[in-house]
Order: sequence, then C-alpha cells, then structure tokens
Amino acid sequence: MQIVIATMSHETNTFSPVVTDLARFSSGQASPPSGVEAESRYQGTASCVGGFLRAAEEIGASVSLPIVAAAPPSGPVEDIAFEYICNAIVAAAAEGPDAMLLDLHGAMVTRSFEDGEGELLRRIRVVAPELPIAVALDMHANLYPAMVAHASVIAGYQTYPHIDMDETAYKSGRVLLQALASEMEPVMSWGSLPMLPHVMRQGTDDFPNKALQQRVREMESQGALMVSLFTGFPHADITNAGLSVVVVTDGDQLLADQFRDELLKMAWDQRAAFIYDPEPLEVSVARAVELADQAGPVLLLDHYDNTASGGTMDTTEVLREIIQQGLEDVAVFGFYDPLVVEQLVSAGIGAEVSILLGAKLPMPALTEQSRPLQLTGKVKLISDGQFPATVAMSRGLTMNMGKTVVFSTGHVDIVIISRHIEPFDPGCFKSLGIDPGSRRYLMLKSRIHYRVGFMPIVKHVVECAGRGVCTSDYSELTFRHVRRPIYPLDGINSLAGLEN
Ligand SMILES: [Zn+2]
Repeated sequence: MQIVIATMSHETNTFSPVVTDLARFSSGQASPPSGVEAESRYQGTASCVGGFLRAAEEIGASVSLPIVAAAPPSGPVEDIAFEYICNAIVAAAAEGPDAMLLDLHGAMVTRSFEDGEGELLRRIRVVAPELPIAVALDMHANLYPAMVAHASVIAGYQTYPHIDMDETAYKSGRVLLQALASEMEPVMSWGSLPMLPHVMRQGTDDFPNKALQQRVREMESQGALMVSLFTGFPHADITNAGLSVVVVTDGDQLLADQFRDELLKMAWDQRAAFIYDPEPLEVSVARAVELADQAGPVLLLDHYDNTASGGTMDTTEVLREIIQQGLEDVAVFGFYDPLVVEQLVSAGIGAEVSILLGAKLPMPALTEQSRPLQLTGKVKLISDGQFPATVAMSRGLTMNMGKTVVFSTGHVDIVIISRHIEPFDPGCFKSLGIDPGSRRYLMLKSRIHYRVGFMPIVKHVVECAGRGVCTSDYSELTFRHVRRPIYPLDGINSLAGLEN
C-alpha cells in the first residue's frame, strides 16, 4: 500500500502584520522539507507527521512525503507560498496513491482564499475524486463546508496546550486505514456556532473547555469513531471563524448528528464562560509584586503579543511597566528583534550598549501602536539559538530561535531572538544558561501553551494586558468579514433563525 503524508499548516491571524512567505514554512532552509529528510526529522516526534508515520508503519505501508510545510502563526499566506505547497500535495495525489494523510491545522487564510485548506482539498478532488483522505486539524481550526465535503475523515486535537498532536493524527490515520481494510464506512456530521470564544478561555485545564473535551472523549467510547470540538481561532476576520464540531461514526449518520447537536448545545450554553475579562496592566503588575515571595517565580504573561497566535513578539508595554514598577530578578522571553540582535552581536559579550528594543513592525489593525523601549545594559550571552524540545508538545523536534542574545539591564535579563518561537519549553531559557525556576519573576510572551512547560516551575501566574494583534479585547479589532451576528461581538442570546 502506498500512502502520501503531507503537512500544510498555518494559523492565520488576519490582523497580524507578520509576513507569511515560503521562507516562513521552511524552518530556516531554502524550502519546506520533503521526502526522506522530512521523514527522518519527524519520525517518532510528538507531531502530526510523527503520528501519521506511526499509523502507516503499523500496516507496513510505504510512505512518501511530498512536503511538510508548517509556519508559525502570522498574517495571510502569500499566494506564491500557498501555490507552491498546494502544487506539491496535488501532484502527489495525482500519482494515484492508496490513501493520503494530511496535517492541515485548519485556520489558513491566504491572500486569495479565506479557506486555504478547503481550496487545497478541492484541488486534490479534481485529480483524485475517490482518494481516501484523513485530515488532522488543530483545536483552533475555523471549519468550512469544503473541508468536510472533501475529506474522508477529520480529527482535531482534544487538548490545549496541544499535547495530543501525534495521537490525533495517529487516530485519524488509523481510522481511515482500518476503513480501507474492512467493511467500515465512516460518515461525518458537522456544525458551527456563531460564537468567538476568547483564546485565553480555551485552555483544556479550565472550565468550560475541560468539560466539553471530556464529553468529546466519552462520545468516542459511546459509539463514535472520532469526535472533535474546535474552539476556533477568533483573530481571523473571515466568514466561518468560530466554534465548530465534527463527529465521525461508522455509517451511523443519526448518531453523528445527535452527538454534534449535543456538543453544539453544550458549547452555546457556556458561551459566557468563554469570555475573557482583562484587567488594567498596571494593576496586574502591581499584583505580581504582591504575590512575589521566596517560594517560586511569579509569571507575568504578556498574552496580547503571543507569537504563536500571530503576534509580532516585539511590543514593549508589559516590559515597560515591569521596569517602571521596579521589579528585580526578572527573566524575559522574549523579543523578536533581529536588528538589535545584530547590534549586540557586533558589540560582543560584556559590552555595555544602549538599545531601542521592539516595536519595529507597525500594526495597522490596531489604533494604538507599541513604542520602542530605550534600555542600557550588557551583552551577557550570544547563541545560535537551537535547542532540543523536551516537553510533550514538540518532543523530539529541534527548536530554532535563530541568532539569540541575552541582554541584561541588571534587574532584567531579556532574551532577544531572530526567529519567532513561543516559549512553552523551559529549554528556551535553560539553553541560554538561565534557570527559570530560580528567578523571582518571569515574563513570557505566550497565552496558554506556556502551561505545558512552565506550570511545574512557577508559583503564580498574572495575566497582563499589554498590546498586540492577539489582544483579548475584541473592541480593539475591527471585524468586517466574520458572519454577523456573532457572540460576543453582538448581543445575541438566541440561535433562532441562525442555524446553518
Ligand atoms: Zn492551536
């Protein structure tokens, strides 16, 4: 049996000014990995491709990987990058494999298509109308009819932080391959709700998503093959942004519809619990000071500027407030500022330097812009910025921060990097000689994923409303294209007349 495994993965923040070109999908190489190189990079890792490879290996199938293209979240995907990735996957489908396993995230917006994955699948169907296709999606997928119409089976992550990527892909691949080998006939039911849950309220350690995902798993033990509840990605001003559900059963459309309706009702009933209520930044930082003691670090979370939601990773408001309120013994991860990295590398280790940090990239989607922060300090360390990931989200993969400098003002150590990565693995500090557990304060530009590596280390978490295109205050963004009315942008409290 011949199986094609491929990745086209991007979470598009349509408010983000960060450019998404082919280089962003290429992990620092000339183009995205493929073939044997991709197979050896992802084999046995906690990634979707790792899970698909495991499912294929179990049945002794031979695999080909035309492209594994995953880019960190950012603005709309450039057409030339989308066409390159699509062409590689469609060409592989045209060669007549027995099955295709696709890692697609499910929130890709391109310059030309608001449903990038639907467009890819539509093109695959032109050359391979009968090809069995299993799709693995992120919990932040924004689902469209074309994705469901053209996929054979779909499975989404059930955890946030996403610690079940390989399991999700494995499950979806295995169900498809079992269906091929037996009389099983997977059918799908899906639906979406006009609601935009705040990302800060989507964590699966917290109510309400914890309860929803528990019910999802129960359904998989009560007759469904695979059940997925997508909380959606709200920083995408596109028609179908929002929460959705997909249920796969073995030929039982009625059961699939029933489970879908039950989950949609559960989610709608808890819509108010998905609203995040930010507090003023100065109040949060003052609260962090009150919480500080000897028992462990207080984490200040700069969640408006999370690079893994499309943030520029260079807004300065939270760090400025930390410095103004005089916090000491702080380690910060991190700032994306390649220009300052170059300046500091030229100055050399030990040099005292004045820098203008951050706020390099204008954010036209926001009325209020960030301002650069003038700092004087010393170059403490210079690194090539690579470290092996150890936490469950990306175990087995190498993290690449690009050329990296640790800059110290005396009271604050700031990691300044040249490639965007979200700090969810403490290795981002430890690989630079910083022991995060021994600091009085940590500042991280993250939203939920930090929990996977940092919750065991920190004593308290204080969520800080800074500035950025991942703002948790929807009133700072202008939505023009998302379906209306939609909760909570509009005060709707009834679905009557809104069912799709
Ligand atoms: Zn996600």
